Amino acid sequence: MVDCLFCKIAEREIPSQAVYEDDEILAFHDINPVAPVHILVIPKKHIDSLEALAREDEQLAGRMLGVIRDIATEQGLDDRGWRVVVNTGQRAGQSVKHLHFHILGGRDFGWPPG
Ligand code: 5GP
Ligand code: ZN
Repeated sequence: MVDCLFCKIAEREIPSQAVYEDDEILAFHDINPVAPVHILVIPKKHIDSLEALAREDEQLAGRMLGVIRDIATEQGLDDRGWRVVVNTGQRAGQSVKHLHFHILGGRDFGWPPG
């Protein structure tokens, strides 16, 4: 999608520190980490948000969860407690309108989230 930051990162027009890539998924370090481990996992195809996930995208979304688990293990987060966040919509704090999963770890987290 034109003028989408994460499409540009997926297409490598904008550089990122990638930790995982396959034909459909890219994972990279967040530019402004809020935890010692803060990685973003995105579909390479443009999907606005979790709300915009189509039935045909559900297999991809499921695969993304498997990639997230593998990255958490690789980052040494397993057994330490970690969190996956998908901000959906402006009021929930979604600032980039391209579906992304935050993987957060390496510190304690409060509940409920702010
Ligand atoms: P949101 O607020 O939409 O849930 O999350 C967007 C995330 O993207 C934020 O945590 C922000 O720090 C990150 N971000 C914004 N611009 C860039 C960028 O150019 N590169 C990277 N790696 N992360 C970015
Ligand atoms: Zn996009």
